[in-house]
Amino acid sequence: MNSTRFTPADAAELYGIHNWSSGYFRVSDKGEVEVTPGPGLNAVLPDIVDEIVARGESLPVILRFPQVLAGRVRQLNEAFRTAMREYDYQGRYQGVFPIKVNQRRMVVETIASAGYEYAHGLEAGSKAELALCLAQNLHPDALLCCNGFKDDGFIKLALWGRSLGKNVVITLEKFSELERVLKVARQLGIRPAIGVRFKLNARGSGQWEESGGDQAKFGLNAGELLQVVERLRQEDMLDALVMLHTHIGSQITDIRRIKVAVREATQVYSDLVDEGAQVKYLNVGGGLGVDYDGSKTTFYASANYTLAEYAADVVYTVQEVCKSNEVRQPTIVSESGRALTAHHAVLVVPVIDVTGPTRGLQSIPEAAEDQHQIVKDLEEILANINTRNYREMYNDAVGDKETLHNLFNLGYLTLRDRARGEALFNAILQKLAKLVAGLAYVPDELEDLPKVLADKYICNFSLFQSLPDNWAIQALFPVTPLDRLDERPTRQGTLVDITCDSDGKIEKFIDLRDVKATLPLHDPGTRPYYLGIFLMGAYQDVLGSAHNLFGKVNEAHVTARPGGKHLVELFVRGQKARRLIESMGYEEDMLRGSIRAQVDRARAAGRLDDTQTVELEEDYGEELLGYTYLEYEE
Ligand SMILES: *Cc1c(COP(=O)(O)O)cnc(C)c1O
Repeated sequence: MNSTRFTPADAAELYGIHNWSSGYFRVSDKGEVEVTPGPGLNAVLPDIVDEIVARGESLPVILRFPQVLAGRVRQLNEAFRTAMREYDYQGRYQGVFPIKVNQRRMVVETIASAGYEYAHGLEAGSKAELALCLAQNLHPDALLCCNGFKDDGFIKLALWGRSLGKNVVITLEKFSELERVLKVARQLGIRPAIGVRFKLNARGSGQWEESGGDQAKFGLNAGELLQVVERLRQEDMLDALVMLHTHIGSQITDIRRIKVAVREATQVYSDLVDEGAQVKYLNVGGGLGVDYDGSKTTFYASANYTLAEYAADVVYTVQEVCKSNEVRQPTIVSESGRALTAHHAVLVVPVIDVTGPTRGLQSIPEAAEDQHQIVKDLEEILANINTRNYREMYNDAVGDKETLHNLFNLGYLTLRDRARGEALFNAILQKLAKLVAGLAYVPDELEDLPKVLADKYICNFSLFQSLPDNWAIQALFPVTPLDRLDERPTRQGTLVDITCDSDGKIEKFIDLRDVKATLPLHDPGTRPYYLGIFLMGAYQDVLGSAHNLFGKVNEAHVTARPGGKHLVELFVRGQKARRLIESMGYEEDMLRGSIRAQVDRARAAGRLDDTQTVELEEDYGEELLGYTYLEYEE
């Protein structure tokens, strides 16, 4: 083992913090994770958590940093402004935030207010989302794009939005929506602003590759697009066609795919202009990637470009195509959602226990007088395993362990022998781990040894509520301890949640070259040990499901103040058990009534006295109103 001192800089490197944090997180000299939303602003995450705990609130908690969110909005808009200045682009940039990525009030309102000066708008994909967007305070020029399939009610709401003075654009997702829009617009006597989603031939890259191309769910093909132009011309409404919309999927990992798509989109735009449609906005959709693993590659959890490079390439490509086609350079719109929201939220989970083959091993149970030969075999392996023979010894041990369990099942082995055998096997693994740690080359059959040996860190959270993307689409999120980062982590762990679902675990961790099976962690000891799960603010932040009735977690909205201080602006309590139970169709009265009836019977039967009766009902009531996660009193 390396005996040199382990520094916060080593920790930053070990966990790749500078690679994935986009400058919003760092390790302090004291080995604590800090959020750094802007120049001169930093707040210490363990301090924030301590304050929340001191207030008597429970963990897990999501820390939301509005300053980070506002910072991302500015960064995106400034990146486009910089690129446009550099290329002398003859138009502007106006982003829209697709709220499906995170509809939370704090998120939408922060983006709307930070985006006001940039006329940054919103995108709604359903009636409910539109209802929410219409109530936001946006710059009068800011776009409010209506995507998704539409009925008359959706279209009406969008058109009324125009009467309210909002720059609402109705995007046609399929050809038949045009007649519906024309009909409703006639009924209300309101002139629509129309966008058309075009099915690009270009494809994305990464996990959402299928969102583009011919088979895409949304969009019109070239023939349909021309029919829209014809139909609008007939109605003398060609000027209503204001936007060309494209979207090839989320988390595009390869910048070349973006350039190809933007080129195709701009060609379509140019031809629309030639056809006489004065399309004002060219919407290049979402897809701006987040580098979750910090590797800057085309790996699905990464992206091989920065936000600034994205802006520069989009601006350059649009301009180049417009110049060669001699058409006016449009207002460029992007619908970046993931890139705006991922960084602002950190899930803090307490480690409540550690289990694993190398834990609690101090005592190998005593040998029985007549202990079985298979146990003796394992004893021998443990005594003799060394760097020369470890491969065959390991294989023997694995075989012996299997035999051990077979013998037990057949009744030839006592529970005492089994316990001793299992403990010996674990001791062999532990010894083996030390042996191979010093080797330059680890043979293939031992490659998952770290995983076999890893400790399971039991964390007080539900993967299905808080990190559904990890479960559903194998998304990777950076995980680090919040403090002790000036101390060398001595263990390798995987994370398991507190649901009763064996899928509720994290066994894949970010790595620059690959995906790691385990995460370096400290021995928690007796102090609270908190892990931060970062970049979790997009999509899954609002997709959570209440598996095992673990509900929404507590949230703190925190701003950093100069001098390493912070302010918890708002604390929002998570869902109470009652809410989750009621969402399944039960009623609180009914539950309490049933308990009451049972209590009465138990009292009549003499199983409860008067005090116990009161206590039982109080405890029951307290849990109905309580947090759904584990609450240990220190
Ligand atoms: C989901 C979605 C987006 C958001 O994409 P990101 O990759 O999160 O930026 C943008 N546009 C449309 C049409 C979408 O459906």
